[in-house]
Amino acid sequence: MALQSIERLAKEIAKLPGIGEKTAFRLAMHFFYGDDIHRESFASALKDLKTDVVFCRVCGNLSTNELCDICSDEKRDRSILCVVARYADLLAIEQTGEYRGRYHLLHGLIAPIKGVSIRDIRLKELFERVDKETPSEIILAFDAGIEGDTTANYIVKMLAGKQTVSRIAYGISMGSDIENADVHSLSRSMMNRTVLR
Ligand SMILES: [Zn+2]
Repeated sequence: MALQSIERLAKEIAKLPGIGEKTAFRLAMHFFYGDDIHRESFASALKDLKTDVVFCRVCGNLSTNELCDICSDEKRDRSILCVVARYADLLAIEQTGEYRGRYHLLHGLIAPIKGVSIRDIRLKELFERVDKETPSEIILAFDAGIEGDTTANYIVKMLAGKQTVSRIAYGISMGSDIENADVHSLSRSMMNRTVLR
């Protein structure tokens, strides 16, 4: 039987997505044999994770300030709003370097099977924002699939304003997953978006 402290660490690591018990144990041993500096910097990075990062009060982006870098950038186009489910999706779109509008992060998609309802994601904030800022176009950049479709349909239904609502295109090269799409496919998918309303 392994020592308690190693087991305790292995147990925590095993809670991470995609990590089985064997890998968790191997990683715990890696820390055990590794140097003190790495152990300490790892621990302090984990400890600071929640204290350094806040949600931008406008768009919900992860930020170190009340207003994120994108919202405080005067050069970003205020007439286009790109709605994404997750921070990773925003990062993927930013990496294309072609989108110059602003974002709204929902922090999830409507998924009744997983118990995620309309009220659990930042939809109310989106509608309030659209009312106030009146962007001319709203781009929905969700992964393909039932959760993305349900959320897109709901947004289209609720936004009875003057805005154009479009959704990014999905093709063979793009796949269904924004986070893992390559930069070229994703930028093409943003360009070839379909107007929903
Ligand atoms: Zn922001």
